[in-house]
Amino acid sequence: MTKTHSGSCRCGAVTYEIEGEFKRFFLCHCKRCRKASGSSNAANLFAPDAKLTWLTGEDKVKSFTLPDTRHGRSFCIECGGMLPRIRDGMAVVPAGSLDTEIDIRPEAHIFMEFRADWDDHLEDVEKLDGGPQ
Ligand SMILES: [Zn+2]
Ligand SMILES: [Zn+2]
Repeated sequence: MTKTHSGSCRCGAVTYEIEGEFKRFFLCHCKRCRKASGSSNAANLFAPDAKLTWLTGEDKVKSFTLPDTRHGRSFCIECGGMLPRIRDGMAVVPAGSLDTEIDIRPEAHIFMEFRADWDDHLEDVEKLDGGPQ
């Protein structure tokens, strides 16, 4: 079933709509995703044959593909916020860029072999509703 989701970058200059169905959802811990996200992992949704429409700020969207790889990113040139891109007909959507709710949940942590040395048992780390005291 086709659904429409919307999202935006961190500063709000870029907004988008994505029409399609999210079929897969992975948390990727590979080094490239760690470098791109500055975090332990990227959280990407995959929607085949989806339609991506930039609602605002298309001129602020920059796409980058690491030479000789399929590894790429789209992001806002103002704030660096990650944005969706189309790769080989497949929409790759950073889950954190969405402003609408999704019913799919991550199905796997992938490329754990390449995770950061501090990336172990993160589920055991204390969870606070707010910031640290
Ligand atoms: Zn932005
Ligand atoms: Zn990765």
